[in-house]
Amino acid sequence: CGVFGVIGVADAASFLALGLHALQHRGQEAAGMVTHDAEAGFCSARRMGYVRDNFTSRKVLDTLPGTLGIGHVRYSTSGHKGQTAIRDVQPFFGEFSMGGAAVAHNGNLTNAATLRRELIERGSIFQSSSDTECIIHLMARSMGRSIPDRMEEALRKCEGAFSIVAMTRTKLIGCRDALGVRPLVLGRLGDGWVLSSETCALDIVGAEFVREIEPGEMVVITGQGVESNFPFKNRSSRFCLFEHVYFSRPDSILGGRSVYETRRQIGVELAREAPVEADLVCPVPDSGTPAAIGFSHESGIPYGMGIIRNQYMGRTFIEPSEQIRNMGVRLKLNVNRALIRGKRVILVDDSVVRGTTSRKIKEMILDAGAAEVHFRIASPPTAWPCFYGVDTPEREKLLASHMSEEEMRRHLDVDSLKFITLDGLYRAVGVAEGRDPQKPQYCDACFSGDYPVVPADMIEKGFQL
Ligand code: 5GP
Ligand code: SF4
Ligand code: MG
Repeated sequence: CGVFGVIGVADAASFLALGLHALQHRGQEAAGMVTHDAEAGFCSARRMGYVRDNFTSRKVLDTLPGTLGIGHVRYSTSGHKGQTAIRDVQPFFGEFSMGGAAVAHNGNLTNAATLRRELIERGSIFQSSSDTECIIHLMARSMGRSIPDRMEEALRKCEGAFSIVAMTRTKLIGCRDALGVRPLVLGRLGDGWVLSSETCALDIVGAEFVREIEPGEMVVITGQGVESNFPFKNRSSRFCLFEHVYFSRPDSILGGRSVYETRRQIGVELAREAPVEADLVCPVPDSGTPAAIGFSHESGIPYGMGIIRNQYMGRTFIEPSEQIRNMGVRLKLNVNRALIRGKRVILVDDSVVRGTTSRKIKEMILDAGAAEVHFRIASPPTAWPCFYGVDTPEREKLLASHMSEEEMRRHLDVDSLKFITLDGLYRAVGVAEGRDPQKPQYCDACFSGDYPVVPADMIEKGFQL
């Protein structure tokens, strides 16, 4: 998901629309906004589908007056996956004794099922199937005197990943879990302030990047400025490595590093680790493109667009039903036959999850007359599901959970298949010494099975670490 908030600007809703549009790659199922205006009070709109289809007309934006607002773009990783109901669309809103508050959340709470059960037993009435709603009910139960105090208390009971943007009548609040698994940045916009999942959304509204919200930090922003607190103990950064590989936009800056440059460097590392003689390096667009550029540069093998993407399709994995995803490959990608014919082709992709995309692409490339097909993958084998806000299928559906590299090569029926090593990936994100197995610098659980937060709900359901 993507979160965005502004304070101290005229027509906050227009800025929210722009910001959320720039974060659309983080969630395409639905979008929502809440604003506050002295006369109109809290106003909200929640819609299924793209930001550009729902939040660009004045007719809608005029219903969202105010100089303060937050917004959210959703894809389902909790609740009823893949069948977003409008009641699951954020931001969520609650009325407390000291006034209203709205909350938008990116990430996934790993103890939400337990929290929900306890809350329901004590009388909470849930409106949605989302883990995020627990935060509102925990806030309602808190005795805290202010909304930020209540939020702090609520979030101390939450486990897992949360980058949160919230608001009261007068305050914009930002918070990251103690490990900082998901991103959140602060920007300056004239006299106002912006919170955003990624820096690419600061660019679109013309805001200046100030800094990242730190792991375990809570900021409360008012007309007086930014107040910072560190309410959670045991802070140490375990940022999501997969944000660098795939999830974030290449024009964003994460941890002071250009995502594009990191991805290009992954390609360089891959070319060093797994060279192969060939005639052409092709990205699987768009996610494989920077790595393919790096691979081509390092290997000296020419780069070419052997696969053309239809720009009007969404990301494959964000359309959650399996059937749609299978169709998606062909609707989305086509082979550039004239370029491929007779060539030994290296295909560079970001990840192999179920293997369905790679298989289809291989068939398309061979049909077009390629002499050989070699896959080079910009992440290590995805062998474990993510419980922190990226939608991966159950463990059994992950190809790498039950196949070795050679078995996957045979399954995909390609001439060679190589994944970047975990150390190679760490080097590409700027950790020269590679991964520290005692104290990994990032979350890499989907590759290593080393989960920085115990996924309590899943273990209760029988998941084995
Ligand atoms: P596959 O067909 O192997 O499941 O999908 C691999 C490709 O689709 C990758 O290029 C990746 O961009 C995207 N992808 C598809 N499904 C998922 C998913 O569930 N999680 C992630 N992380 N990426 C996916
Ligand atoms: Fe990111 Fe993978 Fe960790 Fe999930 S498990 S937060 S996708 S690195
Ligand atoms: Mg891809």
